[in-house]
Amino acid sequence: MPEGKGLLIVYTGPGKGKTTCALGTAFRAVGQGLRVLMVQFIKGSWHYGELDAAKMLGDDRFEIRPMGRGFVKIGGAETDPEDIRMAEECWESGRAAIYSGTYDLVVLDEINYTISYKMLDAEKVVEALAGRPEQVHVICTGRNAHPKLVAAADLVTEMKEVKHPYTKGILAQRGIDY
Ligand code: ATP
Ligand code: MG
Repeated sequence: MPEGKGLLIVYTGPGKGKTTCALGTAFRAVGQGLRVLMVQFIKGSWHYGELDAAKMLGDDRFEIRPMGRGFVKIGGAETDPEDIRMAEECWESGRAAIYSGTYDLVVLDEINYTISYKMLDAEKVVEALAGRPEQVHVICTGRNAHPKLVAAADLVTEMKEVKHPYTKGILAQRGIDY
């Protein structure tokens, strides 16, 4: 296989490490001169350390765009239309970036979550990813990756929870969890 083949990568599963794995890959890619964009579904309220770390690298090398409001309203009869609107907007931003020619790696952080909650159509996403420019790498993160996305991907890693401090009542730690 020739070098420069864009990979479709999925980090999923219930264990911790999906978003941070994507960030680690982004860090490596930046070191190789690749231009990276991460669009973040759902996220938008918490101030994650990676937002400042990416700024230190420079917006032209690694940009992170939080495009949610930090939570989604679930439990009601229907998904809040505002959450669907935000998910669509984030998807359009990511899709446009993938097709723009400006980025070598685009991370769709927590997209699996929005698909599994029916805020975004799996088929539409998979079709757009399949037709992307050949050299562009894409990483999709989040629990419960859709079977169609898994089928289309070149690389899928499922994080397995062996232990997590949360079960002992230890709360999220600065620099590790956010
Ligand atoms: P990270 O961003 O740390 O790589 P993640 O992307 O794998 O985690 P998410 O499902 O996106 O995990 O969860 C987001 C938040 O929940 C993070 O603050 C993370 O530390 C925490 N978290 C992840 N996995 C678990 C778990 N198994 N139990 C409790 N909290 C978790
Ligand atoms: Mg995550």
